[in-house]
Amino acid sequence: MRKPIIAGNWKMNGSRSSIKELLEGIKAGMGDVKSAEVVVCAPAIYMADVSEQLSGSNVAWGGQNLSTEAKGAFTGETSADMLLDFKSEYVIVGHSERRTLYGETDELVAEKFEVARKAGLTPILCIGESLEERESGVTIDVCARQINAVIEKSGVKALAEGVIAYEPIWAIGTGVTATPEQAQETHAAIRKMIAEKDASVAEQVRIQYGGSMNAGNAKELLAMEDIDGGLIGGASLKAEDFLAICTAPA
Ligand code: PEP
Repeated sequence: MRKPIIAGNWKMNGSRSSIKELLEGIKAGMGDVKSAEVVVCAPAIYMADVSEQLSGSNVAWGGQNLSTEAKGAFTGETSADMLLDFKSEYVIVGHSERRTLYGETDELVAEKFEVARKAGLTPILCIGESLEERESGVTIDVCARQINAVIEKSGVKALAEGVIAYEPIWAIGTGVTATPEQAQETHAAIRKMIAEKDASVAEQVRIQYGGSMNAGNAKELLAMEDIDGGLIGGASLKAEDFLAICTAPA
Protein backbone atom coordinates (compact mmCIF):
# COMPACT_ATOMS: atom_id res chain seq x y z
CA MET A 1 0.00 0.00 0.00
CA ARG A 2 1.50 3.33 -1.06
CA LYS A 3 0.92 6.18 1.40
CA PRO A 4 -0.10 9.35 -0.48
CA ILE A 5 2.41 12.19 -0.33
CA ILE A 6 1.34 15.80 -0.72
CA ALA A 7 4.19 18.25 -1.27
CA GLY A 8 3.96 22.01 -1.56
CA ASN A 9 6.35 23.71 -3.96
CA TRP A 10 6.48 27.34 -2.89
CA LYS A 11 8.78 28.29 -5.78
CA MET A 12 10.19 31.85 -5.37
CA ASN A 13 7.32 33.08 -3.22
CA GLY A 14 6.90 34.28 0.33
CA SER A 15 8.66 36.36 2.94
CA ARG A 16 9.74 35.54 6.49
CA SER A 17 6.45 36.83 7.84
CA SER A 18 4.17 35.23 5.23
CA ILE A 19 5.94 31.87 5.65
CA LYS A 20 5.55 32.06 9.43
CA GLU A 21 1.82 32.65 9.04
CA LEU A 22 1.48 29.91 6.41
CA LEU A 23 3.27 27.33 8.56
CA GLU A 24 1.27 28.24 11.64
CA GLY A 25 -1.90 27.67 9.62
CA ILE A 26 -0.68 24.35 8.23
CA LYS A 27 0.44 23.08 11.63
CA ALA A 28 -2.88 24.07 13.21
CA GLY A 29 -4.80 21.98 10.67
CA MET A 30 -2.55 18.93 10.56
CA GLY A 31 -4.67 17.08 13.14
CA ASP A 32 -7.25 16.49 10.40
CA VAL A 33 -4.69 14.94 8.04
CA LYS A 34 -5.03 11.22 8.56
CA SER A 35 -3.67 9.41 5.57
CA ALA A 36 -1.08 11.51 3.78
CA GLU A 37 2.54 12.39 4.29
CA VAL A 38 2.93 16.17 4.04
CA VAL A 39 6.00 18.07 2.84
CA VAL A 40 6.79 21.70 2.02
CA CYS A 41 9.60 22.62 -0.37
CA ALA A 42 10.86 26.06 0.52
CA PRO A 43 13.28 28.59 -0.98
CA ALA A 44 16.75 27.73 0.37
CA ILE A 45 17.12 31.09 2.09
CA TYR A 46 14.15 30.33 4.35
CA MET A 47 15.25 26.80 5.27
CA ALA A 48 16.44 27.82 8.74
CA ASP A 49 13.05 29.41 9.54
CA VAL A 50 11.15 26.45 8.12
CA SER A 51 13.25 23.94 10.03
CA GLU A 52 12.80 25.85 13.27
CA GLN A 53 9.03 26.15 12.84
CA LEU A 54 8.38 22.59 11.69
CA SER A 55 10.70 20.71 14.06
CA GLY A 56 8.66 18.26 16.09
CA SER A 57 5.62 18.59 13.81
CA ASN A 58 4.30 16.02 11.35
CA VAL A 59 5.18 18.17 8.34
CA ALA A 60 8.48 17.42 6.61
CA TRP A 61 10.40 19.90 4.49
CA GLY A 62 12.82 20.03 1.61
CA GLY A 63 14.57 22.08 -1.04
CA GLN A 64 13.45 22.93 -4.57
CA ASN A 65 16.78 22.21 -6.23
CA LEU A 66 20.33 21.19 -5.37
CA SER A 67 23.79 21.30 -6.85
CA THR A 68 25.52 18.17 -8.11
CA GLU A 69 28.67 19.50 -6.43
CA ALA A 70 29.53 18.93 -2.78
CA LYS A 71 31.19 22.32 -2.17
CA GLY A 72 33.45 24.95 -3.65
CA ALA A 73 33.37 27.75 -6.19
CA PHE A 74 29.79 27.39 -7.39
CA THR A 75 28.24 30.79 -6.73
CA GLY A 76 24.56 30.76 -5.90
CA GLU A 77 24.26 27.00 -5.55
CA THR A 78 23.00 24.88 -2.61
CA SER A 79 24.55 21.51 -1.79
CA ALA A 80 22.87 18.39 -0.45
CA ASP A 81 24.79 18.78 2.82
CA MET A 82 23.48 22.33 3.22
CA LEU A 83 19.91 21.06 2.89
CA LEU A 84 20.66 18.27 5.35
CA ASP A 85 22.18 20.78 7.77
CA PHE A 86 18.65 22.16 8.18
CA LYS A 87 17.14 18.67 8.50
CA SER A 88 15.56 18.71 5.04
CA GLU A 89 14.33 15.28 4.05
CA TYR A 90 13.27 15.96 0.46
CA VAL A 91 14.47 17.84 -2.59
CA ILE A 92 12.72 18.48 -5.90
CA VAL A 93 14.82 17.64 -8.95
CA GLY A 94 14.06 18.42 -12.57
CA HIS A 95 11.05 20.67 -12.08
CA SER A 96 9.90 21.76 -15.55
CA GLU A 97 10.82 25.36 -14.66
CA ARG A 98 14.41 24.19 -14.03
CA ARG A 99 14.39 22.22 -17.28
CA THR A 100 12.91 24.94 -19.48
CA LEU A 101 14.17 28.18 -17.87
CA TYR A 102 17.59 26.98 -16.72
CA GLY A 103 18.41 24.41 -19.38
CA GLU A 104 18.57 21.36 -17.09
CA THR A 105 18.97 18.25 -19.24
CA ASP A 106 17.74 14.72 -18.45
CA GLU A 107 21.35 13.78 -17.66
CA LEU A 108 21.88 16.66 -15.24
CA VAL A 109 18.57 15.90 -13.51
CA ALA A 110 19.59 12.24 -13.22
CA GLU A 111 22.87 13.34 -11.65
CA LYS A 112 20.96 15.52 -9.16
CA PHE A 113 18.70 12.55 -8.32
CA GLU A 114 21.78 10.43 -7.66
CA VAL A 115 23.54 13.08 -5.54
CA ALA A 116 20.39 13.65 -3.46
CA ARG A 117 19.73 9.94 -2.93
CA LYS A 118 23.31 9.16 -1.99
CA ALA A 119 23.30 12.03 0.51
CA GLY A 120 20.20 10.60 2.20
CA LEU A 121 17.64 13.05 0.80
CA THR A 122 14.50 11.78 -0.94
CA PRO A 123 14.47 13.21 -4.45
CA ILE A 124 11.12 14.19 -5.96
CA LEU A 125 11.76 13.64 -9.66
CA CYS A 126 9.57 15.84 -11.86
CA ILE A 127 8.71 14.61 -15.32
CA GLY A 128 6.11 15.58 -17.87
CA GLU A 129 5.35 16.63 -21.40
CA SER A 130 4.67 19.98 -23.07
CA LEU A 131 1.36 20.70 -24.81
CA GLU A 132 3.01 20.21 -28.18
CA GLU A 133 4.34 16.82 -27.10
CA ARG A 134 0.91 15.76 -25.79
CA GLU A 135 -0.72 16.84 -29.02
CA SER A 136 1.81 14.86 -31.04
CA GLY A 137 1.08 11.73 -28.98
CA VAL A 138 4.51 11.35 -27.39
CA THR A 139 3.57 11.89 -23.72
CA ILE A 140 4.71 8.48 -22.50
CA ASP A 141 7.88 8.59 -24.63
CA VAL A 142 8.87 11.87 -22.98
CA CYS A 143 8.15 10.54 -19.47
CA ALA A 144 9.99 7.29 -20.23
CA ARG A 145 13.02 9.19 -21.56
CA GLN A 146 13.18 11.33 -18.41
CA ILE A 147 12.87 8.28 -16.11
CA ASN A 148 15.27 6.19 -18.16
CA ALA A 149 18.00 8.81 -17.68
CA VAL A 150 17.70 8.14 -13.92
CA ILE A 151 17.60 4.37 -14.39
CA GLU A 152 20.73 4.50 -16.58
CA LYS A 153 22.65 6.46 -13.95
CA SER A 154 21.38 4.91 -10.71
CA GLY A 155 19.69 1.64 -11.63
CA VAL A 156 15.97 0.90 -11.52
CA LYS A 157 15.93 0.07 -7.77
CA ALA A 158 16.97 3.65 -7.00
CA LEU A 159 13.58 4.88 -8.22
CA ALA A 160 11.97 3.35 -5.13
CA GLU A 161 14.12 5.62 -2.96
CA GLY A 162 12.56 8.68 -4.53
CA VAL A 163 9.16 9.97 -5.52
CA ILE A 164 8.07 10.68 -9.10
CA ALA A 165 5.96 13.76 -9.81
CA TYR A 166 4.14 13.57 -13.13
CA GLU A 167 3.52 17.19 -14.06
CA PRO A 168 2.20 17.91 -17.54
CA ILE A 169 3.79 21.29 -18.35
CA TRP A 170 0.55 22.57 -19.89
CA ALA A 171 -1.18 22.15 -16.52
CA ILE A 172 1.42 23.89 -14.34
CA GLY A 173 0.30 27.28 -13.09
CA THR A 174 -2.28 27.53 -15.89
CA GLY A 175 -5.46 26.59 -14.03
CA VAL A 176 -5.91 23.82 -16.63
CA THR A 177 -5.80 20.48 -14.82
CA ALA A 178 -5.46 17.09 -16.45
CA THR A 179 -8.74 15.25 -15.98
CA PRO A 180 -8.53 12.40 -13.45
CA GLU A 181 -8.83 9.95 -16.37
CA GLN A 182 -6.06 11.68 -18.37
CA ALA A 183 -3.76 11.73 -15.35
CA GLN A 184 -4.57 8.13 -14.40
CA GLU A 185 -3.86 6.96 -17.95
CA THR A 186 -0.39 8.52 -17.89
CA HIS A 187 0.37 7.39 -14.33
CA ALA A 188 -0.59 3.82 -15.24
CA ALA A 189 1.59 3.97 -18.37
CA ILE A 190 4.54 5.26 -16.29
CA ARG A 191 4.07 2.46 -13.75
CA LYS A 192 3.83 -0.11 -16.55
CA MET A 193 7.01 1.18 -18.17
CA ILE A 194 8.82 0.82 -14.81
CA ALA A 195 7.24 -2.62 -14.20
CA GLU A 196 8.78 -3.88 -17.43
CA LYS A 197 12.16 -3.34 -15.75
CA ASP A 198 11.24 -4.18 -12.13
CA ALA A 199 7.74 -5.10 -11.00
CA SER A 200 8.41 -4.57 -7.31
CA VAL A 201 9.85 -1.07 -7.80
CA ALA A 202 6.81 -0.19 -9.95
CA GLU A 203 4.51 -1.35 -7.18
CA GLN A 204 6.37 0.61 -4.50
CA VAL A 205 7.20 3.92 -6.16
CA ARG A 206 4.85 6.79 -5.42
CA ILE A 207 3.77 8.84 -8.42
CA GLN A 208 2.37 12.26 -7.56
CA TYR A 209 0.29 14.34 -9.94
CA GLY A 210 1.15 18.02 -10.31
CA GLY A 211 -0.48 20.74 -12.38
CA SER A 212 -3.15 23.10 -11.01
CA MET A 213 -4.26 20.65 -8.31
CA ASN A 214 -6.45 22.56 -5.88
CA ALA A 215 -8.99 22.20 -3.09
CA GLY A 216 -11.75 21.64 -5.65
CA ASN A 217 -10.21 18.93 -7.81
CA ALA A 218 -7.84 17.09 -5.43
CA LYS A 219 -10.29 14.47 -4.19
CA GLU A 220 -11.14 13.18 -7.66
CA LEU A 221 -7.53 13.13 -8.80
CA LEU A 222 -6.28 11.45 -5.63
CA ALA A 223 -8.99 8.79 -5.86
CA MET A 224 -7.39 7.37 -9.01
CA GLU A 225 -5.59 4.09 -8.55
CA ASP A 226 -2.13 5.15 -9.69
CA ILE A 227 -2.12 8.71 -8.31
CA ASP A 228 -0.22 8.61 -5.02
CA GLY A 229 -0.32 12.25 -4.01
CA GLY A 230 0.27 15.68 -5.42
CA LEU A 231 2.97 18.26 -6.02
CA ILE A 232 1.23 21.55 -5.44
CA GLY A 233 2.37 25.00 -6.56
CA GLY A 234 -0.09 27.88 -6.26
CA ALA A 235 -2.50 26.14 -3.87
CA SER A 236 0.31 25.39 -1.41
CA LEU A 237 0.66 29.08 -0.57
CA LYS A 238 -2.60 29.30 1.36
CA ALA A 239 -2.89 27.09 4.45
CA GLU A 240 -6.61 26.49 3.97
CA ASP A 241 -6.22 25.37 0.34
CA PHE A 242 -3.17 23.24 1.04
CA LEU A 243 -4.85 21.54 4.00
CA ALA A 244 -7.93 20.82 1.90
CA ILE A 245 -5.65 18.90 -0.48
CA CYS A 246 -3.80 17.15 2.37
CA THR A 247 -7.08 15.90 3.82
CA ALA A 248 -8.43 14.79 0.41
CA PRO A 249 -6.90 11.28 0.26
CA ALA A 250 -9.46 8.79 1.52
C1 PEP B 1 4.32 22.96 -9.72
O1 PEP B 1 4.94 23.97 -10.03
O2 PEP B 1 4.94 21.94 -9.38
C2 PEP B 1 2.86 23.00 -9.80
C3 PEP B 1 2.20 21.87 -9.83
O3 PEP B 1 2.30 24.26 -9.84
P1 PEP B 1 0.71 24.59 -9.82
O4 PEP B 1 0.08 23.71 -8.77
O5 PEP B 1 0.63 26.03 -9.49
O6 PEP B 1 0.19 24.25 -11.19
